[in-house]
Amino acid sequence: MSYQRYHGSCHCQAVKYEASIDLADGSNRCNCSLCSKVRAWFTFVPGERFRITEGEDALSHYRWTPASKGEPFLDYAFCSRCGIRLYGSGDAPQMGGRFYAVNVPTLGDVDREALVAAPLRFIDGAHDRFDRAPEDTRLM
Ligand SMILES: [Zn+2]
Repeated sequence: MSYQRYHGSCHCQAVKYEASIDLADGSNRCNCSLCSKVRAWFTFVPGERFRITEGEDALSHYRWTPASKGEPFLDYAFCSRCGIRLYGSGDAPQMGGRFYAVNVPTLGDVDREALVAAPLRFIDGAHDRFDRAPEDTRLM
């Protein structure tokens, strides 16, 4: 593992964060009802490797309960001024505790070629299958 610290922000710069990410861990696209609305592209970051550095008070939060779950699984945080989603966060034993799903396009100083080279996974969240890719990934 080789973690590197990156800096990210929303579009209007009201909210800024830093996250230590190992790009070799790859990133994800999901087709669940929420992810497909925002064309989510995210990478998982352990809780201790992510922090808001500016504008936490500008964040708004959204939670929803997937049909397969009894309660909201993730808390989605987005800028209340420009609407850009910065991350989803949750706490789950199978994820090693608290984690963030950082919205990759909000990273400001990540090397483009390194991102291109990193693994990209497709997740079939629409069918509650996080262990496989959907049959059709063409529009993901
Ligand atoms: Zn903003």
